[in-house]
Amino acid sequence: MNLVLLGPPGAGKGTQAERISSIYGVPHISTGDIFRDNLKRGTELGRKAKEYMDRGELVPDEVVIGIVRDRLAEPDCDRGFILDGFPRTAAQADALKAMLAETGKAIDHVLNVQVPEEVVVQRLTARRTCRSCGKVFHLVFDPPAREDTCDACGGELYCRDDDREDTVRARLREYEAKTSPLIDYYQREGLLRNINGAASMEEVLQEIRAVVDK
Ligand code: AMP
Repeated sequence: MNLVLLGPPGAGKGTQAERISSIYGVPHISTGDIFRDNLKRGTELGRKAKEYMDRGELVPDEVVIGIVRDRLAEPDCDRGFILDGFPRTAAQADALKAMLAETGKAIDHVLNVQVPEEVVVQRLTARRTCRSCGKVFHLVFDPPAREDTCDACGGELYCRDDDREDTVRARLREYEAKTSPLIDYYQREGLLRNINGAASMEEVLQEIRAVVDK
């Protein structure tokens, strides 16, 4: 089961990817998580990615493509994968298609999670992420017991630099300009499945399962 999750930042791709990953037993591959993990470990890649992430811009294609190529070659991807946040440009989509074809694989579904811009802004600016385990909370919809502490591991909760309102708006502009053309791209390939991302977390999951199980 090879899935791609498409949609603006804040569409809930990460949350849904986690759940699909545990239901179907295939790895959740988030390029944003890979960059944040590198940043935390102080790697060269992390430092390079941070410059772009802090401005709400996309990391250059050649950097991201190399990372995904390596990740997809790992044995846990043999039974499938869920890509979250990749591809984000036409060049990345072309590269993905080519690298999968090399190993006789192809994408099964591209789930296009649709959410209006104002909902996205509201969701992201109230998002809090745990510095230790990465768990995500929402101050309104999924609040932690204490505003600054992770319920799961006791770690410190913080607002990602790129979840601040001006950066969120910049990320949305990047999405419109560079990523939204992929909707037509995958429509033409016959792979696009539209999902209403403004519904509740549970309803979105059911809609995704209905597509995947068909
Ligand atoms: P995300 O957690 O998916 O919202 O990603 C956070 C940030 O990481 C983005 O705003 C980009 O700066 C960078 N990033 C993640 N995935 C990609 C990608 N496929 N192409 C370029 N930049 C990316």
